[in-house]
Amino acid sequence: MRVLGIETSCDETGLAIYDSEQGLLSHALYSQIDLHIPYGGVVPELASRDHVRKLLPLTRQVMDEAGCEADDIDAIAYTAGPGLIGALMVGASVAQALALAWGKPSLGVHHMEGHLLAPMLEETPPAFPFVALLVSGGHTQLIEVQGIGEYQMLGESIDDAAGEAFDKSAKMMGLPYPGGPHIARMAEMGIADQYKFPRPMTNRPGLDFSFSGLKTFTLNTIDAEKANNPDGALSEQNIADIALAFQDAVVDTLVIKCKRALQQTGLKKLVIAGGVSANKALRERLEKTLTGMGGDVFYARNEFCTDNGAMIAYAGCQRLLAGQRNDLQISVRPRWPLTELPDIKGQN
Ligand code: ATP
Ligand code: MG
Ligand code: FE
Repeated sequence: MRVLGIETSCDETGLAIYDSEQGLLSHALYSQIDLHIPYGGVVPELASRDHVRKLLPLTRQVMDEAGCEADDIDAIAYTAGPGLIGALMVGASVAQALALAWGKPSLGVHHMEGHLLAPMLEETPPAFPFVALLVSGGHTQLIEVQGIGEYQMLGESIDDAAGEAFDKSAKMMGLPYPGGPHIARMAEMGIADQYKFPRPMTNRPGLDFSFSGLKTFTLNTIDAEKANNPDGALSEQNIADIALAFQDAVVDTLVIKCKRALQQTGLKKLVIAGGVSANKALRERLEKTLTGMGGDVFYARNEFCTDNGAMIAYAGCQRLLAGQRNDLQISVRPRWPLTELPDIKGQN
C-alpha cells in the first residue's frame, strides 16, 4: 500500500509518500520558523495561512520525486490532532479534497502516534513491546507500548513539556526560537557544574514530570549572574554554562524516570521520540543506561524527530492496512488523548 502523508499540526508543512513494500519513497518539509521568529513563538493564524501556500507545491514535489501519479497513491493520511485547530483544518481539508478527487480512502492520524512510530522508519526498527518516552514541544510522556494503539500511560508532565522548557529557558538566555538546538549547541562550550539545577520530582516515587520549576530556576540563575557581572549582562561563557547545567538537569531527570519505567514494566527496549529526542546528550546518556541494563534505545534520524510528513504517512499506512478509514467529513481534534486510539487488532 502506498500512502501520501500530510502533517500540518503546528509550524511545519510536511509531506511524504510511504510504501509498505518499498519503504519511504519521498519526503519534503517546509519549516515556518523564520515567519514566527519576530514574535518569539508560533502565531496560529500566520501558521494556517502559510500551510495553505505550501501544501500543494510540496504535494507535487513529493509526487514527482517518487515518480507517482494520482493513481499510484492508494490512500491519504493526515494529522487530525492534537495541534493548532486552524493549521489542522488546512491539512485535513486538502487531504479530504485529494481523497475525494482521486477516489481514495483517507485517515486522520494522531500526531503523537506519528512521533512514537517515527523510529520504525530506521534501519533497525524496535519490535513491540517497548517503553516510549515522548519528548516534544507540547508533550512529555512515558508510555508502555504493546502494539499500535495499545498504549498505557505510565507518566506525564503535570505542567510544561520538556521541549517547552528548553524553548522558554532559551528565550531567557537570549537564544533564538526554537531554543532546544541552541541550548544544545551552547552547552557544548559550557563548563560542567558551575550551577546546580534541581532534578524535579525525582526524589519521590512515580513517573510524572514537572519542568516549570526549571524555567524559574533558569530565570533566577540569570538574574543572579547579571547582578554579579560589572556590565549587568551575561557573558557568552555564562550562557554556555547555564545552558549546560539546564540541559544536564533535564537529561538527568528524563534518564531517572526512563530507568524507573523500564524497571516497573520489566521491559528492556526504550524508544525516544519527538523533537527533544534529537538531543545528543539525552541520546548518549540513555544509550549508556540501556547498555548497562542489557537493553537498547531506539530513535529516529534527526529530521524525523521533529515534525515531518514521513511519520504521518507511516503511522497512517499501518492503520489503513488494518482496514481503518475516515468518512469524508472534515473534522479535527486539537485535543486528543493518545490513549483513546483504537488498537489495530480488535479495533477497540
Ligand atoms: P507536539 O509534538 O507535542 O505537538 P511540537 O510538534 O511543537 O509539539 P516537536 O516538533 O516534536 O514538537 O519538537 C519541537 C521541540 O523539540 C522544540 O521544543 C525544540 O526546542 C525541541 N528540540 C529540537 N531539537 C532539540 C535538541 N537538539 N535538543 C533539545 N530540544 C530540541
Ligand atoms: Mg515545530
Ligand atoms: Fe510534534
